[in-house]
Amino acid sequence: MSSGPDASREAAVVDGVPKQLYIGGTWRDAGGGGTLDVDDPSTGDVLCAVADGTVADGDAALAAAHAAFPGWRDTAPRERGEVLRRAFELMTERTDDLALLMTLEMGKPLEESRGEIAYAAAFLRWYAEEAVRIDGRFTTSENGKGRILTMRRPVGPCVFITPWNFPMAMGTRKVGPAIAAGCTMVVKPAQQTPLSMLALAAILEEAGLPGGVCNVVTTHSTAEVMAPLIADPRARKLSFTGSTPIGKKLIEQSAEQVLRVSMELGGNAPFLVFEDADLDAAIEGALLAKMRNIGEACTSANRFLVHEAVADDFARRLAHELGSMKVGRGTEEGVRVGPLIDEAAVDKVTELVGDAVDRGAQVLTGGERVGDRGHFYAPTVLAGVDPDARVNHEEIFGPVAPITTFSSDDEAIERANDTEYGLVAYAYTRDLARAFKVMEGLDTGMIGLNQGLVSNAGAPFGGVKQSGFGREGGPEGLGEYLETRYVAMNVP
Ligand code: NAP
Repeated sequence: MSSGPDASREAAVVDGVPKQLYIGGTWRDAGGGGTLDVDDPSTGDVLCAVADGTVADGDAALAAAHAAFPGWRDTAPRERGEVLRRAFELMTERTDDLALLMTLEMGKPLEESRGEIAYAAAFLRWYAEEAVRIDGRFTTSENGKGRILTMRRPVGPCVFITPWNFPMAMGTRKVGPAIAAGCTMVVKPAQQTPLSMLALAAILEEAGLPGGVCNVVTTHSTAEVMAPLIADPRARKLSFTGSTPIGKKLIEQSAEQVLRVSMELGGNAPFLVFEDADLDAAIEGALLAKMRNIGEACTSANRFLVHEAVADDFARRLAHELGSMKVGRGTEEGVRVGPLIDEAAVDKVTELVGDAVDRGAQVLTGGERVGDRGHFYAPTVLAGVDPDARVNHEEIFGPVAPITTFSSDDEAIERANDTEYGLVAYAYTRDLARAFKVMEGLDTGMIGLNQGLVSNAGAPFGGVKQSGFGREGGPEGLGEYLETRYVAMNVP
């Protein structure tokens, strides 16, 4: 924690969050009383400790979700929506405290944390409005005799696993539609950032969510606690946001029960700049797509593919912008680049940059860690990167922008698709025909056309290929928590 005049406010915000497990509407210690430390990535200091849940705690949380399901399923849609609406209002009122909490546990600059709180709250509001719009259909069957009725029913108790990079929004994207649909849930946040999720559980409780509907288990014995829940027939759905390797393991585990599964996994987003692009807009979009969240987003621009006619200009301007960004603790005035989440993240970025340089890349700015306390890495632009360099094929998850060039539209699209990932792509062009060629040619679940940000509570977020399946946000996001039941009606 900092020692300046703001230290007492930081301590108060951390103290204000419950540190226990939230099971069946009760806050309680972990069985055996264990705790796990939460660190401040800007200093490496311990912020606080939260309950370290056990296998028995996980089982108790699923039992609570299972017991609460029939009651919540049958609660009037308007009431479900009102809980979400109140939670939206509480979250919005408390933006400053929640943002500070997020910056302390995750590291991103305060302004970005405020942005995430607004984004996270938007899912609560959007699904508050959807809870009363869950419908089915009714038709006469082909032979004119029977009738076809479909109804949409909540899937049942869900298991949610969320990552550290967007500690609040990755929670509300699942919790919001699940509550609206009438599902109950066990949520396991990432062990590096449990505080935001615990704060969300407290808000939902205050908003009137009945005990057992949303249960939160924090633990460092992640695999041991979660595997039995995924194998348990009381669970009917698994939704995971995190890395592709862990997602693959969980898909395997969920086959046992044929669980319904949503997977929001890793990305390797290409950022395409064509020769007719508005370069001012492309630079602005690149800053957002690359530097939002310190480059630690599944949607981060991972590879810049720039037409050879504009590549030098683009690279020089991007390097100027990144080189002038202030790096530091996210709570400090003017800081635009916070620390990476841990030392392993700094090591990975260092390795990827080293590999690109060994293969001939030029470092236009950055290229090294910053300071010896906390996990800081300088915003970095690499030009002339070999297409085979690791940085073009692996998720960087840091503030590094590798640039390669292309000479034709076909080459750009082919290279953009040359990855096992398919989450998002960005493209800058003013030519309508070229824009359509790109929109139809890219193998991704999402495309930012002349914009560097795609996240929107009303839109279906998700990927194809090894970036996963299922969508979060919009009506599609609600559909993830509903089963279609068809009734064949005999009307002679
Ligand atoms: P991660 O290592 O896969 O962890 C994600 C979550 O999975 C954490 O809660 C983690 O718990 C848990 N987990 C780890 N091993 C597990 C196991 N064996 N069984 C059950 N749960 C397990 O990913 P991360 O490093 O936190 O997050 C970064 C990744 O998430 C990146 O690949 C990023 O692209 C992806 N992401 C995707 C989206 C999207 O919408 N597509 C959004 C955000 C992030 P512990 O913390 O306890 O290890």
